[in-house]
Amino acid sequence: MVVILVLHAGLAIARRGHAVIVLDGGNPGFGASTRNGGICSGNVRLPHGLISKKYGETFADEVYAEAIEARLDLTKFCKEESINCELQMTGRFTGALSVANYDAQAYEAERLNKVKGHKAYMVDRKHQHSEIATNLFHGGMVREEIGGFYSAKFFVGLLRCAEKAGVCVFSNTTVIDINNELNGKKSIITKIGTIISGKVIIATNAYTGNSYRVGRFL
Ligand SMILES: Cc1cc2nc3c(=O)[nH]c(=O)nc-3n(C[C@H](O)[C@H](O)[C@H](O)COP(=O)(O)OP(=O)(O)OC[C@H]3O[C@@H](n4cnc5c(N)ncnc54)[C@H](O)[C@@H]3O)c2cc1C
Repeated sequence: MVVILVLHAGLAIARRGHAVIVLDGGNPGFGASTRNGGICSGNVRLPHGLISKKYGETFADEVYAEAIEARLDLTKFCKEESINCELQMTGRFTGALSVANYDAQAYEAERLNKVKGHKAYMVDRKHQHSEIATNLFHGGMVREEIGGFYSAKFFVGLLRCAEKAGVCVFSNTTVIDINNELNGKKSIITKIGTIISGKVIIATNAYTGNSYRVGRFL
C-alpha cells in the first residue's frame, strides 16, 4: 500500500529495528506520489484567517507553523539521504481573479507574515509581469517559502532509502482484506497469499476503490 506515505512510515519503523513489508496492488509509485505537481508548499487548505475565526489565532498559528516545519523537514530529509529530486524553493505566485480576491489575498499575506517562516507579499496588476507573462490576473500574492521538486525522482530516492533500511517492497500484491487474529495480530489477505503482521498501516489513497473488502476500513 505504497507510496510516499507508507514508505516514509516504513523507513522510520525499519530504522527502529522492526521488520517491515510494503504491499502495492500495482507498481509502487504508479499512484499520486509520482504523478503530482511536485509543489512543496506544506500548504494548509483553509486560509489562516478562516482557521483563526473558527478556532482562534493561536491554533491557526500552530497549524501553519507545522506546515513550515514539514517543509523544512523535507529539505533536511533530501539533503541527509542525498536524494537528488531537483528540490528548489522558487516561490509561488497565485494570481488574483478579481479586485476583491486581491484584497483577500493581501489580508491573508498580512496574517501569514505574522507566522514564523512565512514570507508573503503582494504584486499589483501593473507589476505582475515580474512574476507571470499575462495581464489576466488582478495582481496576486507571492509566497517565497514555497517550492517544488520532481516527484518521481523523490519517489525513487525514498524507495532506495527504504529498501536499504530493510523494507521489503512487493508489487502486484493487492490486499483484499485484513482480519484480526485471536493473538492480537492481523492477517493480511492478498491476491497471492496471507501474511501475519503485528501492525498495519493502510495508505491506499483514492485508489482504494470498493472492489475489495479492505476498502471498508476507509
Ligand atoms: C494530479 C495530482 C496533483 C497533485 N499535486 C500535488 C502537489 O503539487 N503537491 C503536493 O504536496 N501534493 C500533490 N498531490 C497530492 C499527493 O500526490 C498525494 O497526497 C500523495 O502522493 C499521496 O501519497 P500516498 O502514498 O498516500 O498515495 P499514492 O501515492 O496514491 O499511493 C497509493 C497506493 O495504494 C495502492 N493501493 C490501492 N489499493 C490497494 C490495495 N487494495 N492493495 C494494495 N495496494 C493498493 C495503489 O496501487 C497506490 O500505489 C497531487 C495529487 C494529484 C492526484
